[in-house]
Amino acid sequence: MVKKIQAIRGMNDCLPTQSALWQKLENAVKKVVSSYGCTEIRMPIVEMTHLFSRAIGEVTDVVEKEMYTFDDRNGDSLTLRPEGTAGCVRACIENSLIDRSEQRLWYMGPMFRHERPQKGRYRQFHQCGVEIFGLDGPDVDAELIMMTARLWQELGIDKHVRLELNSIGSLEDRASYRTALVAFLEQNIDVLDDDCKRRMHTNPLRVLDSKNSAVQAMLADAPRLSDYLSDESKQHFLGVCELLDAAGIEYRVNERLVRGLDYYNRTVFEWVTEDLGAQGTVCAGGRYDGLVEQLGGKSTPAVGFAMGLERLVLMLETLELTDVRRAVDVYMVTAGEGTMVAGLKLAENLRERIDGLRVMTHFGGGNFKKQFKRADKVGAVVALVLGENEVAEDTVVLKDLLGGTQETCKQSDVAAKLAELI
Ligand code: ATP
Ligand code: MG
Repeated sequence: MVKKIQAIRGMNDCLPTQSALWQKLENAVKKVVSSYGCTEIRMPIVEMTHLFSRAIGEVTDVVEKEMYTFDDRNGDSLTLRPEGTAGCVRACIENSLIDRSEQRLWYMGPMFRHERPQKGRYRQFHQCGVEIFGLDGPDVDAELIMMTARLWQELGIDKHVRLELNSIGSLEDRASYRTALVAFLEQNIDVLDDDCKRRMHTNPLRVLDSKNSAVQAMLADAPRLSDYLSDESKQHFLGVCELLDAAGIEYRVNERLVRGLDYYNRTVFEWVTEDLGAQGTVCAGGRYDGLVEQLGGKSTPAVGFAMGLERLVLMLETLELTDVRRAVDVYMVTAGEGTMVAGLKLAENLRERIDGLRVMTHFGGGNFKKQFKRADKVGAVVALVLGENEVAEDTVVLKDLLGGTQETCKQSDVAAKLAELI
């Protein structure tokens, strides 16, 4: 027997039984982000490798060990996008979208990271992100968070996520903090694991979000970033907090929240859940005022977030919020001479008259019993039955598959009858 070819580890098919829930999630996301005036941008899935190393930072988990990087046939080093912000900024600069005007953008699609696959962590996964360029006030940060809060409400998961918030200040604020933090870490070097030791000099803030519990305990006495924030950064953060308070959005200020990517400054936030085990962050974001300039554009303030769609689907499943629109409303059953022609015609007519109606025609023959069985299997609520008599009389039998009743009606009346049942 020929050996079966399998999908790549950590890269999943979205099967027909799952896709309706995905569509429900995607539609909810699109509805909410559009309701804030954001418009969609679609970037390529592959970019030049140095875009990511420059944007995300050389000393980050993503760039150090998670990227799918390969040489294309010209010898250029390319990378499957591990996230959307870098490509979005590149596209904005290249197409002069942010030279003179602000932009409020969203994107959705697959991302790729070579991580150890486990629940909530995959090698191909999907994110929806929002990026807002050209606005530097705390009002934008707050509204972005309000946008995510509205989405949790729309999905029915708002009671199951909580918001963690922090300000990591400006580059200058962090530079003075860094010196103090490194001095502290050096005094406690025997508690640090190898990863932390390496990061201590390259990217010491990353030590703060170490998952090592001994390191976390030691950090209780570490200098606090909030003591090093400039007045401007403090004001900005206060502004965000006040606006969230006014909007009734609860949050916890978590001083250890620094985010894994280098480009952030000022506001950073994460929405976390206890319902998914270790992979508890469903959405993460913050300000990245320096990135546009760093990638060759004109200095432009920016703020955004990205959410992991797999983790949101898992939440909907865990919370049993899996009601979806049924795939088939009406099943067209035909048997006898000339009935298929009439059935196809009636089905087309109904699709035209009832917007969004889902009609599946039975193909492949078989008796009525077999056809009704099939109708049940696909989840239809109504079967329309055409035999030779019905065709001759321009009627159709309408069978309510849930109630079990049936009636014969004129073909021209069937749309009105269906509207009552569906
Ligand atoms: P984590 O700490 O879980 O590794 P991260 O900080 O690397 O997350 P971000 O780069 O901020 O994640 O991406 C934003 C969101 O995308 C995450 O909060 C998560 O919901 C989702 N995400 C990130 N990596 C993966 C992955 N490998 N599989 C599934 N979802 C992911
Ligand atoms: Mg990660």
